[in-house]
Amino acid sequence: MDFGFTEKEKTLRRELQEFAKAELPPDWVIGGYAEEYCTDYKWQVTQQISKKLAERGWLTMAWPKEYGGLDATHTEYLLYREEATYNMLPGTDMGVGGVSWIGQSLILFGTEEQKKKHLPGIAAGETYWCTGYSETEAGSDLASLKLRAVKKGDEYIISGQKVWTSAAHRCSWCWLAVRTDPDAPKHKGISLFLVDLKTPGVTVKPLMNLAGLAENSEVFYDDAHVPADCLVGEENQGWRCIMTALAFERTAGAEHLGRSRRMVDDFVKYARETKRNGKPLSKDPLVRHKLAEFAIECEVGRLMCYSIAWMEDRGLIPGHESSMAKNFCSELGQRLSNAGLGIMGLYGQLGASLNAPIGGMAQTAYLFGVGDTLGGGTSEINRTIIATRGLGLPRG
Ligand SMILES: Cc1cc2nc3c(=O)[nH]c(=O)nc-3n(C[C@H](O)[C@H](O)[C@H](O)COP(=O)(O)OP(=O)(O)OC[C@H]3O[C@@H](n4cnc5c(N)ncnc54)[C@H](O)[C@@H]3O)c2cc1C
Repeated sequence: MDFGFTEKEKTLRRELQEFAKAELPPDWVIGGYAEEYCTDYKWQVTQQISKKLAERGWLTMAWPKEYGGLDATHTEYLLYREEATYNMLPGTDMGVGGVSWIGQSLILFGTEEQKKKHLPGIAAGETYWCTGYSETEAGSDLASLKLRAVKKGDEYIISGQKVWTSAAHRCSWCWLAVRTDPDAPKHKGISLFLVDLKTPGVTVKPLMNLAGLAENSEVFYDDAHVPADCLVGEENQGWRCIMTALAFERTAGAEHLGRSRRMVDDFVKYARETKRNGKPLSKDPLVRHKLAEFAIECEVGRLMCYSIAWMEDRGLIPGHESSMAKNFCSELGQRLSNAGLGIMGLYGQLGASLNAPIGGMAQTAYLFGVGDTLGGGTSEINRTIIATRGLGLPRG
């Protein structure tokens, strides 16, 4: 096996580093997976960068050329996401999904009309999509969802509530899972809709996260009338679309990994530049060993993510391997930000600002990181997938 990157891949990494240096505002600092859409200023920069990524063709590089992509390999796409996160580049679609799981699923399941209508806006970095799966009584057990759609003429009327919809307050469209047959076995009565969030009857109410920022939303549907041609695939066949989209979503290990690598490098810099009790932190054996341990873990996570891309480039479909990488990388991010707070002492508790050491990244990464092992399927659910599909153990 060749562990090296090709010249094309090395050039892409260099170009992304140069792009980040040239395009990001001097006061830019971002430590959390979803931070880019949590404040008005960050969201404004995010949209600008997203459009510039689109102009370079990078935003949807993994899509087929006919839909505005570059037919990039999975390895190139992973490298792009890892490097973008390392360099704090927003706008690549992190945590929202239009590019990485909704667009890719629409390419597989949508009609030609739906693709023509929706894909160009995503590929241009102009239309943002959110994902409406979870409800108050349906998270891990997603098939229990109750949001109801009833067909009337050439429309569906949707009523009920979703929760934890990331970035709904910033997005214009939602990839929405709805119950269309309450009498069928629960996986078989669900349909997938493309819903304009400006539809009368739809109300978005942002929720605050641990950092005190609007990250997710409750979304209420009060008899919202949606055209029947917003249905993706066949009625009651939505579970397949959801499972496929979730498989795309669980490749997010790349983003956790990019941020973890950045944290290790920033903590190393901090240890070199800081003295405690008159002694450089970089000479403290506890700090050195901790950082060395995390450098090893980042390398392990990196190999896991690239081995999955390697499989995909050869036409193999990763299953439990994506769950392994998602768990390892998201849990690594949590351990690392926690250790960083310990290494930095009280300075680590300063929030995102250029005046804070390492831009306050330890604090934001710590607060945002709590959700990283929940969104897209919790660590427990992923462990169940690994136990059953990976180890062949019976269902619990
Ligand atoms: C940052 C963030 C972003 C999110 N973004 C979105 C989004 O954009 N769209 C969306 O629809 N949802 C989103 N979610 C919701 C997320 O998908 C759910 O929180 C997640 O699926 C868990 O569901 P729950 O919160 O209802 O917890 P529950 O399912 O009630 O689980 C509670 C606890 O019990 C454990 N548990 C549950 N069932 C089992 C089991 N069978 N075996 C072992 N342990 C189990 C869970 O692992 C968890 O620890 C987001 C969540 C977060 C934190």
